Amino acid sequence: MRSLLFTREELLRHEAVLRRMLAQAPVFVFLTDRELRFLATAGSELAAPGLELEGKSLLDVLGAGEEPSSVLAAHYRALSGEPARYDTEWSHRTFEVRVEPAFDEEGASSGTIGIAFDVTGQRQEEEELRTSAERLRTLLETTSDAIYLKDADGRWLEANDAGLQLFHLSRAGYQGLTDVELASLSDFFREALLACYSSDQRTWAAGQVTRQEEAIPQPGASPRVVEVTKVPLYHPNGQRKGLVVLGRDITLRRMAEQERDRLLLQEKEARAAAEVARRRSEFLSSASRVLADSLDYDATLATVARLGLPFLGEWCAVDLTGEDPRVARAAMAHADPSKEPGAKRLEACVPDLEAPGGIAEVIRSRRPLVLTALAGEEGILALCDHGRAHLDVVRELGLRSGLSVPLVARGRTMGALTFASVHPDRYQDEDVRLAEDLAWRAALALDNARLYRESQEAIQARDEFLSIASHELRTPITALRLGIQRLFRLARGGAEPPWKTVATSLEGIERQGRRLTLLINSLMDVSRLQSHHIQLDLEEVDLSEVVRDVVAQLGGVLARTHTPLVLRADAPVVGRWDRSRLEQVVTNLLDNAIKYGARAPIEVTVALEDGTAVLTLGDRGIGISPDRLPFIFGRFERAVSSRHYGGLGLGLYIVRQIVELHGGTIHVESIPGQGSTFTVRLPLSFSPG
Ligand code: ADP
Repeated sequence: MRSLLFTREELLRHEAVLRRMLAQAPVFVFLTDRELRFLATAGSELAAPGLELEGKSLLDVLGAGEEPSSVLAAHYRALSGEPARYDTEWSHRTFEVRVEPAFDEEGASSGTIGIAFDVTGQRQEEEELRTSAERLRTLLETTSDAIYLKDADGRWLEANDAGLQLFHLSRAGYQGLTDVELASLSDFFREALLACYSSDQRTWAAGQVTRQEEAIPQPGASPRVVEVTKVPLYHPNGQRKGLVVLGRDITLRRMAEQERDRLLLQEKEARAAAEVARRRSEFLSSASRVLADSLDYDATLATVARLGLPFLGEWCAVDLTGEDPRVARAAMAHADPSKEPGAKRLEACVPDLEAPGGIAEVIRSRRPLVLTALAGEEGILALCDHGRAHLDVVRELGLRSGLSVPLVARGRTMGALTFASVHPDRYQDEDVRLAEDLAWRAALALDNARLYRESQEAIQARDEFLSIASHELRTPITALRLGIQRLFRLARGGAEPPWKTVATSLEGIERQGRRLTLLINSLMDVSRLQSHHIQLDLEEVDLSEVVRDVVAQLGGVLARTHTPLVLRADAPVVGRWDRSRLEQVVTNLLDNAIKYGARAPIEVTVALEDGTAVLTLGDRGIGISPDRLPFIFGRFERAVSSRHYGGLGLGLYIVRQIVELHGGTIHVESIPGQGSTFTVRLPLSFSPG
């Protein structure tokens, strides 16, 4: 109605103004009827240069090659009352056309209104953006690193294939989810994804780029080690914008590093082992040198105890077996000389040979023993069955672990070499081997020293024997010569010799001759006995008769020495024996009883006890000191000084050998100053093996 107020000129002027306005704006407006014929157009020459559209149909003006369907579809949609849009090309430019429904004055659909904008620049920018986005994606996909973009709330915006593959995620369905939400979707990666969340929080808390290594488990394969860099992004106002996460798979690098480390370690260990081996062989060769230095037994013992310290511990003991049921502590040492007096108190801490375990077991089994304190507070107490009694010393010295190895030389176990240390678990396999090597050398050195000592003693004994023997042989020879000279003098005197004197001289000569024969027989017997060349000549012999004969033979000596003798040998005691050897036994024992009997009565008894012949010879003479008693049956062993009593120290040795050849035994009981009793037991018949 308002238009009725305008004159036609006014309207034309308005239209001209509007058209000018539109011509200057970068838009082009057009109106079509329902058949899509252009009813009116207005707009920029720039937007639609030289375009005469009015009266033409939209279909006619659609450019060749243009896709008409999208254009028509948009217009049809507008005709149905819905706005629509499309892009169209014209004269090398791109236009975005927005189409709206047009209505007549009654409000009924009358066609379409189109407004076209020149969007050439905008579209080019969009295209460029799209191209650069595609390049970016190509870049993302061609890198083997995992890349993730997350928003400020930790939602995954974008991840490349490598990133998705790390968590076995598919391209569809991850966007917009947080780590926690993704974790709830996968049991396998749950932990790893929750760990991602926590590490994101640490990055945000740090407010700067963070780097860390994460191990992501992989189904059916070893975990992948990923070096993760997280870059927090902020808006200019400081608000969180998003998080860029870069993950570089360094599994192979780590494996290579591990392999390198392993090889390095191996090489280091090999070098250390070589160094240890070198030190050990140096130790052993210096030990051998030291051991070879001396042949003195006691010095070698002391050396053995010192040798292994401190290489094999702080304390060392050398324990040797002997006659005693208890092991003897032959030497002991401590690495710290100031602690040696304290350590001395362990001298008494030696085991009984039969004790279970400990050093006694090492000696019996010839096997090494290692004790560690881990099993108990004082690991070394178990070395000895008397260990607990020495707990205070062990504590004072702080000894906690122990190692004991057998001392074996030439197949003979001599004892044990034992080390102890203040460290609770000091001894390993290689220490055991080293200690065994050392013990082997030490045992050999000790055995050599022992043999050397024994050979020295033997040489000394031989020298002593030679001097005694020459003295023993010279005495009867001197007496013999004196007797002969006396006879010569009588014979040269020309007169009738006094026959009584002649007889006395001849008796003396006979006696000395007998003595010489006995001495020489003894010497020959000893060498025969030693080379086992004595043959027994067995026959029926009455021991009582043999004893009576010998007593009769020695009657002269008994008389001369005023020694009374009580003989109880009336009943015959018959067995199968070597008569002359039995005579030798009785003679030697009776000789000794006279020699050492101090002229006190001697009692000789022969009896039969339980089918065994028993000969007892008791005197009340000087007796034998208990410490010499075990030795008197040995070769050249004597319990008296040669200055006071003559003799070669062979009589009892020969007696025992003969008695044992007959399967018998000899036994002595003696109290110094009160006398000795020798008892010989002989089986009536015996078949020598
Ligand atoms: P010897 O030639 O020295 O007598 P024996 O072998 O006969 O040698 O005796 C060894 C040692 O035993 C003697 O040296 C002596 O010390 C001691 N002995 C032997 N018989 C007796 C005894 N009846 N009384 C005391 N000591 C004895």
